[in-house]
Parts: sequence; C-alpha cells; structure tokens
Amino acid sequence: MSLLQSALTRLEEAARVAGVSPETLLILQNPEREIGVHIPVRMDDGTLRKFRGFRVQWSSARGPYKGGIRYAPTVDLDEVQSLALWMTIKCAVADIPLGGGKGGVEVDPKKLSHAELERLTRGFARAIAPVIGPDRDIPAPDVGTSGETMRWIADEYGKIVGRPEPAVVTGKPLNAGGSAGREAATGQGGLYILQALQERLGKSAEETTIAVQGFGNVGYHFARLARAAGHRVIAVSDSRGGVAVNSGSLEPEALMEGKKATGELPMPPQGKRVTNAELLEISCDVLVPAGVENQITEENAGRIKARLVLELANGPTTPEADAILEKRGVTVVPDVLANSGGVIVSYFEWLQNREGRVWEEREVNERLRQTILAALKAMQKLKEEKKTSFRTAAYAVALTRLEEALRG
Ligand code: GLU
Repeated sequence: MSLLQSALTRLEEAARVAGVSPETLLILQNPEREIGVHIPVRMDDGTLRKFRGFRVQWSSARGPYKGGIRYAPTVDLDEVQSLALWMTIKCAVADIPLGGGKGGVEVDPKKLSHAELERLTRGFARAIAPVIGPDRDIPAPDVGTSGETMRWIADEYGKIVGRPEPAVVTGKPLNAGGSAGREAATGQGGLYILQALQERLGKSAEETTIAVQGFGNVGYHFARLARAAGHRVIAVSDSRGGVAVNSGSLEPEALMEGKKATGELPMPPQGKRVTNAELLEISCDVLVPAGVENQITEENAGRIKARLVLELANGPTTPEADAILEKRGVTVVPDVLANSGGVIVSYFEWLQNREGRVWEEREVNERLRQTILAALKAMQKLKEEKKTSFRTAAYAVALTRLEEALRG
C-alpha cells in the first residue's frame, strides 16, 4: 500500500466514525492543487543539475494552506501528498485557522554544499512563488530543512513581491522574524501531551523510561525537555544508529554536543550502541518515533515493548502495525496530535509577523500548552463517545470541523 493509500484508508474509517457526509469525504480525498517543478541549479563545480520539487495544497477549507518543505532523496508526489493530507488533519485537530499543504524536493541535502543548497532553495522559492503567500500558502521547515532554509525563501519571495513579507514562511530564525519557542515547539508540545497522559502509565515522571528514535530538531528538543522534566531518556538514535543505557539516563545535551563535534552520537558512560531496529524494540515505557515514516510496521509491531507510542514523526506507524499495537493494548498518540506543537507555534509566528508584535517565550509556550491540551481533550471526548482509537478519534475531530467549514 502506498503512503497515500494508507492515509486515505484512515481518513475513510474516521469519516464513518465521525458520521460526516460522503460529499465531505469526496472533497477531502484529493488535493485542491498540486504542482511539480524542475529546479535548475548551478553546482559549485560549474555544472548545471536539475532537481524535482513539489508543492501540494490539500485543503483550504479552514484557512490558507500550511505545511513544511522536506528535502530528502525519498521525496516523491506520493509522500508529499500524504504529508499534505496529514497537515490538513493536524491543523483541524489543533483548531487553528489554517488548511493543509506540504512541499518537498528530491535531494540529499547532506550531499550539497551550503552555497548549492541556498541556490536550490532560492530556485524552489521562485518556482512556487506564484502559489504561496501569507494569505495563500505558508511553508515551514520539515525533515532536511531548517530556519535558514526559511530565511532564504522569505528573502527570495520578498524580492519578487518588492517588499519584506516575513509571514510567507514560518520557522524562521529569531533574527529574521521567527518566534521564540518555535524551534523546540514540536518537542515541547509532545512533552505537554506526555505529561497530560502520565497517569495512564501509573508511574511518576522520574520512573518513566523513554526511547527516542531520531535525533534531529524534533527528537533532540523532545529528549532534552523530557530529561529536564525528570524523565529517564534511556535510548536515542539517529540515522547512523543509537546509544542506550541500562540504568540512569542519557543526557541529551551532552549527546548533541558530541554529535556536533564528530558527526556521530558519542558513547555515554556505561552505555552501549544499539541499532535503530533494536531501539524500537527496547524495554521502555514510552517510545517516541521522531524521524521519518514507516518505522513501526507489521514486521516489528509485535515486539514493541513500550506501553505508549508518542508519534513525533509524521506517519511512523503503518495501519497494519496500528492494528497489532491496539490488540496488544499499546496506546498510540497519533502524529496529527502528538507533533502538532510545531505547526501551532508556526501559527503564532505568522500571527506575530502579521501584527508586528513579538511574544515572549513564556507566552508562546503557555498558549501552545493550552492549544495542544484542548486538542487532546476534544480527541479524548470523541474517543470515549465512539469507543475508538486515539488516531481515529483525532481524525474524526478534524473531519467534523472540516465539514463545518466546508458547509460554510
Ligand atoms: N513540518 C512540520 C509538521 O509536519 C511543521 C509544519 C508547519 O509548521 O507548518 O508539522
């Protein structure tokens, strides 16, 4: 099954549970617009290469399209479509007045120089400029992109329209119109959800063990904040592999320092190396996939030992794995809720840019906490009413809100 097919299967199931009309489902089954572009880039050695890029605008029923831009060698239309649909659901679950979209470029950013990446990004910005804008479609970072990528897009877009237009993208660096708290927001939102669900685990934060797969922006900040809140982070991994401890906790900040210095996660005191596959199956209370999609599958779901899976990546669990985990009593907090902290603070950044105001980090985090916990509550209410999984309940909350918007 392709990624999009599995996303649509979940949408259809939730539509039945939510009782939305066949017409609502029909409208939400396809993107409103999708564009494919070819970006010629002058490489440092003087040759010209072309890169394939996409922007998919799934739904504007609730507001301008919103969603990240991914740079990865795996990017194709199927992946970007799925991510755009998930953004539509995510923004509706969070109840922020934005629609869903996503972009991507088929490229391994690690293989390009800084200058080549800048030229590629500016080329992509020119290619999608006619369909983005603060009232139209607002990109943000995703896997393989960063605040700097957003700064280049905002700058290029500003040149095209002839005025500064920082609200065209979010996730910008602080000195380019970014928001306090945005970089850590996905991890912070995930921690608020975990803290709200702590009771389900029947143990204190200090007793709770966490394994984090993915040590990029999202995984790192989540691990750092969870550790600071007293949790035991017993394993983390990145694309090259992971490290774990049998007792005590890893120190995410020290791990990041080591990783920055050598490119690899350093061996912690009394630690051991683990593979990504081993990390997923490690004995822990909470498993946090924070990398890419399709990590928990039919093949390994039976061996997951965590009691709670907090999906900070988009699409880490396949529908087949979902069914296995549910049967085994493992709670899965779905991506569209668990990782919505990023887009929630993106919304705050957009608001600040448009109002010409700057919020303090404390205010950003407090509003994030309120927004994400309200989403959790709405999902839990529907879950109890319909006796369904967290994922289906989250999709159903979103579908009900989307239907209201579509009816006008
Ligand atoms: N790429 C992030 C996501 O998948 C953030 C999107 C945004 O802030 O627009 O949720």
